[in-house]
Amino acid sequence: MSSPSIPFIDLKSQYTALKANIDARIQKVLDSGAYINGPEVAELEQKLAAHTGSKFCLAVASGTDALLIPMMALGIGPGDEVITTAFSFIATAETIVLSGAKPVYVDIDKKTFNIDITKIEAAITKKTKAIVPVSLYGQVADLEEINAIAKKHNLFVIEDTAQSYGAGYKDKKSGALTTAAGTSFYPAKPLGCYGDGGAIFTNDEKLLKVMKEIREHGSEKRYYHTRIGVNGRLDTIQCAILLAKLERYDWEVIQRNRVATKFTEAFTGLNKIDPQFSTPFVRPGNTSVWAQYTLTLTNREAFQKKMTELNVPTTVHYPLAMPDQPWYKENTPAQVAIPNSQWAADHVISLPMFPDMTDAQQDVIIDAVKKAVEFSMK
Ligand SMILES: *Cc1c(COP(=O)(O)O)cnc(C)c1O
Repeated sequence: MSSPSIPFIDLKSQYTALKANIDARIQKVLDSGAYINGPEVAELEQKLAAHTGSKFCLAVASGTDALLIPMMALGIGPGDEVITTAFSFIATAETIVLSGAKPVYVDIDKKTFNIDITKIEAAITKKTKAIVPVSLYGQVADLEEINAIAKKHNLFVIEDTAQSYGAGYKDKKSGALTTAAGTSFYPAKPLGCYGDGGAIFTNDEKLLKVMKEIREHGSEKRYYHTRIGVNGRLDTIQCAILLAKLERYDWEVIQRNRVATKFTEAFTGLNKIDPQFSTPFVRPGNTSVWAQYTLTLTNREAFQKKMTELNVPTTVHYPLAMPDQPWYKENTPAQVAIPNSQWAADHVISLPMFPDMTDAQQDVIIDAVKKAVEFSMK
């Protein structure tokens, strides 16, 4: 008997659960005709700001815009250096390059996959303007230490919170801890819409004003352009969808944590079969939102092959460190050795993770992982 097929992320069950609410909200926007800058945009911004504990929020067209716009607003550009992690989705380095600045890569902490705070100060030069830490896989980077370094050297901090919307850090939440923060509502992110979307958070009202202008072609008022901007608005329908999804989000985070805890318990002892096998480490004081549940293994290729045979999808986030990507290797190579990032790129693999995962689905995944680890070490 073959197992029922399990999705990597089940967005259909989520939609089914929220259908009445989502459909009604979309219909309301369709009837209103306010497809851009409708009232749902400001409503969402207020709710997201309150939810993260940040003073202000700006809804934008993507997570990529949510990183680029703060950099533009802070005046980061040619001649500047921006310190970031070597191991992330490419948009992190890409937006630094698009701003005109040079990305300076720092290796990761092998346990959390986030930037190694002990290596940041060595990367600072007279040209450094900002640090862009990424809260990867759903866990906030070590922002207290990063903020202290930034303060000492007079740098901005922009948290890439694309994978950590809603994550807890001590008594605060991802997005509310830095000069600015950018998140993504790409459908597969912990909080996703039904297209591209993102949001910026800040506590700085002056910065907010500038970012708002940049979002709208650098206009202070309509057809009066005082700076270079972009078309970075989030459309009203996506905001309406997010308003519906936000109502269930805290419950979803609890479910994601339930799924993660069960995985981690079930995989105890697998490191006796594969010495490089590890389950995710969540630092004390952190609450992950589990954008990914990511394992490390010795023989990833064999593991993945067996998982596919057993009908369980897996994904590699990410197969190359950012400075090792072809364009970046050519144009913005790493300035220092990044062994942990390169090790991660060769050994990480993510399992299906979604709030509506049933016990039966999870048991199939657990069983497959055990078999695939054994297989991969033969
Ligand atoms: C998804 C992602 C982004 C970009 O978000 P988009 O909405 O796809 O533009 C940026 N950084 C990280 C870490 C991401 O995972």
